[in-house]
Amino acid sequence: MERNIYLDYSATTPVKREVFEEMVPYLTDYYGNPSSIYKIGQSSKEAILLAKERIASLVGATPEEIYFTGSGTEADNWAIIGTYDSLKTKGNHIITSSFEHHAVLHSLKYLEEQGAEVTYLPVSKDGLVNPEDVKNAIKDNTILITVMMVNNEIGTIQPIKEISKIAKEKKILFHTDAVQALGNIKIDVNDLGVDLMSMSAHKIYGPKGIGALYIKKGVKIENFLHGGGQENTGRAGTENLAGIAGFGKAALIAEKNFDSHVLHLREMRDYFLKKVSERIPDFNINGSMEKRHPGNLNLAFNYIEGEGILLLLDKEGIQVSTGSACNSQSLTPSHVLSAIGVPVERIHGSIRFSFGDFTTKEDVDQAVEVLDKAVGKLRKISSVSKEKGW
Ligand SMILES: *Cc1c(COP(=O)(O)O)cnc(C)c1O
Repeated sequence: MERNIYLDYSATTPVKREVFEEMVPYLTDYYGNPSSIYKIGQSSKEAILLAKERIASLVGATPEEIYFTGSGTEADNWAIIGTYDSLKTKGNHIITSSFEHHAVLHSLKYLEEQGAEVTYLPVSKDGLVNPEDVKNAIKDNTILITVMMVNNEIGTIQPIKEISKIAKEKKILFHTDAVQALGNIKIDVNDLGVDLMSMSAHKIYGPKGIGALYIKKGVKIENFLHGGGQENTGRAGTENLAGIAGFGKAALIAEKNFDSHVLHLREMRDYFLKKVSERIPDFNINGSMEKRHPGNLNLAFNYIEGEGILLLLDKEGIQVSTGSACNSQSLTPSHVLSAIGVPVERIHGSIRFSFGDFTTKEDVDQAVEVLDKAVGKLRKISSVSKEKGW
């Protein structure tokens, strides 16, 4: 394979070799249905419990509080729609932020059609939700507050503990989408005080198509899929056994390697930023650099289109995301960058670089080299180039 430099770990990650090896036996030899009472069924059931123990350990929960889902998206849908369905006779108001992942925003849009009332809180220029705004938005009919732990485009870390305290005082359920946070910042569900928390395996070197929802003991939300008794009847359907085993292994590795993982990401990210600063003029950083995912960088290159940069990098075997990130099929400017007040033309020139365990210094050196050339080339043909004297 040609040399490839992957700088899009926030979009997805490769499955680690040890994770893959953990999964294979559950597809071939230990394929029993976990609901079957004979031995190979029971060994499957034990594999699920082991994975729950491993994921629970990573976030300070108990295995009984971990419910597997088909994705992070499904966990968000279940948390939000399940809460609404179980509490809609008590109230219909939900508070969220305007820069959530679409799995949250579109679940809420769907509920608005069902009669929910949703408050979308503003986000500061730094990319942070203000807990005071949450407090002020609470009404008598508020049943749920949902604010993400780490933003997927700009990596900013939200004041989850402060928000959960406010929710608890008013006895309102609190959900957080922790898909980007998992394995990258320390999470202790009890210390943070969250009731519901979404996770996904493929952002932590596990397989795609498997996620989990943490549901705090004692919290009751409506079941999501109806059928057999799986996941304590909350999410029916024969379990994705290999996916679950892989998710568990990925969580185990994430817990064991946490410190070195975070250190490596921060080193790569900061080295990249330093090199870019030395070589490329006229760019801005989107979002706070202090309260940030260690492997996330989001840069706006003025006067040019991020899409153009992305394509030139791709030609050289380097993968990144544009300001429209998860939206890259559409030309709508990123709702995240809009929410933090980045002007439209700057959003169009924004690129997310995200670093991971397999990123090397050589990758960074080469990526900056190619990026420098790409930015230079695009600026030469851009309309402002003459007045800027390029
Ligand atoms: C990736 C992501 C999701 C969706 O998870 P999937 O498993 O891909 O469905 C949800 N929220 C955030 C913040 C994410 O980054």
